Amino acid sequence: MPASLLDFEENEEQKLLREAVSSLVSKFPDEYWRQKDQDSEFPREYFKSLAENGWFNLNVPQELGGTDLGMSEVSIVIHEAARRAGMAAADIIMAICVFAVNTIKRFAKESVKRKYLPELAAGKHVMSFCLTEPGAGVNTLDIKTSAEREGDGYVINGQKVWITLAHEATLMSVVTRTTPKEKAAKRTEGLTLFFLDRQNLKKGEVRTKRIEDISMRALGSNEVYFDNVYVPEENIIGEKDRGWDVLPALLNAERISTASMSVGLGELALEKAANYAKTRSVFSRPIGQNQAIQFALARSKAELESAWAITQKAAWEFDKKLDPSVSANVAAYMGARAAFFTSDRAMQTYGGLGFAKSSDIERHWRDSRLFRTGPVPEEMVLSFLGQRVLGLPRSY
Ligand SMILES: Cc1cc2nc3c(=O)[nH]c(=O)nc-3n(C[C@H](O)[C@H](O)[C@H](O)COP(=O)(O)OP(=O)(O)OC[C@H]3O[C@@H](n4cnc5c(N)ncnc54)[C@H](O)[C@@H]3O)c2cc1C
Repeated sequence: MPASLLDFEENEEQKLLREAVSSLVSKFPDEYWRQKDQDSEFPREYFKSLAENGWFNLNVPQELGGTDLGMSEVSIVIHEAARRAGMAAADIIMAICVFAVNTIKRFAKESVKRKYLPELAAGKHVMSFCLTEPGAGVNTLDIKTSAEREGDGYVINGQKVWITLAHEATLMSVVTRTTPKEKAAKRTEGLTLFFLDRQNLKKGEVRTKRIEDISMRALGSNEVYFDNVYVPEENIIGEKDRGWDVLPALLNAERISTASMSVGLGELALEKAANYAKTRSVFSRPIGQNQAIQFALARSKAELESAWAITQKAAWEFDKKLDPSVSANVAAYMGARAAFFTSDRAMQTYGGLGFAKSSDIERHWRDSRLFRTGPVPEEMVLSFLGQRVLGLPRSY
């Protein structure tokens, strides 16, 4: 038989990865995540367990002791973690394997790679990705956080907002302007990404203020203030003024990860809703016998299956070094919507019980809402597809 051009079956290694992560994550039940969510508390025991069992080694290069797996495998692990334990459990894996390892291994200087990749694999760090600013919003080119030359390095000043895990982070990647927009030759020039080790800074140079929010409360989001933060030149990620060349690769990896998480979370909510619909009896029959309930859940199944297919395609393109931007954007969009509408249908299926914190459905519903707004809001995906893919006139 000729080899098939397309293969949708996960290989043996991928199946084993799924089983192994599922077995670890299943040790942390709903009660654990419910409590962490309620207390807005970092899931330290879970994080430690991931590190001890080698999960942060997943995509670290082999020469630095890692397993050097690709985005397809990272995506499977994130998907499975979300499917077993929900969004916060999966988002932590993205924070380390994608924001940290993927960024450092692809774009940081050799000295940074050698020091930090093994430390990340050992669970010694949490890393935050600091892009969003209050004054710029989705228009990244309008960011104002500056990095000005001083001696052998740069001094960062400015403010970020909504930064996940910044209060826990020992490492940060920070998107700055090294050349003001009005002085740059092109509007996309003048952005530079820096890598920060907060352990090397003086107290108060980076301050964080927790935001009381509704999604992934165990991880939490923050305002972040940079006050005369000195960073050596070797901490530039990519090249000075060429941050715009690095960002798409980082954002595509992030989108594939959030899509994987969305599908996993949607599947978790769907499984709970289908089980409840089989057992809850009203009018002397299971509520799942009513097509109003049954079709809603069946629609979710169709939406989640499609979202997972495009997510796998995006991860495959990423690993093949093809441009994954269209698939990654579509996956993030479809995944986020599938997860949210599934969680919403789960709320409807559970009736009043869905509003009880003890059911965990309201937590999934709150969490699933996030990816319709960030990291990339639906409107920005549609603008990208409308203008960059379909060639329609620019709206902004
Ligand atoms: C819980 C949480 C965690 C987050 N974690 C991080 C993080 O770790 N790191 C990080 O850098 N950021 C993070 N973010 C920020 C997130 O990526 C942004 O909130 C998101 O990109 C939207 O930016 P904004 O909030 O400034 O919205 P705005 O830019 O103010 O936009 C508001 C709305 O207007 C729409 N809009 C704006 N311009 C247009 C246009 N031209 N056409 C159509 N619609 C438009 C947007 O799509 C959006 O729906 C997080 C956000 C949240 C809520």
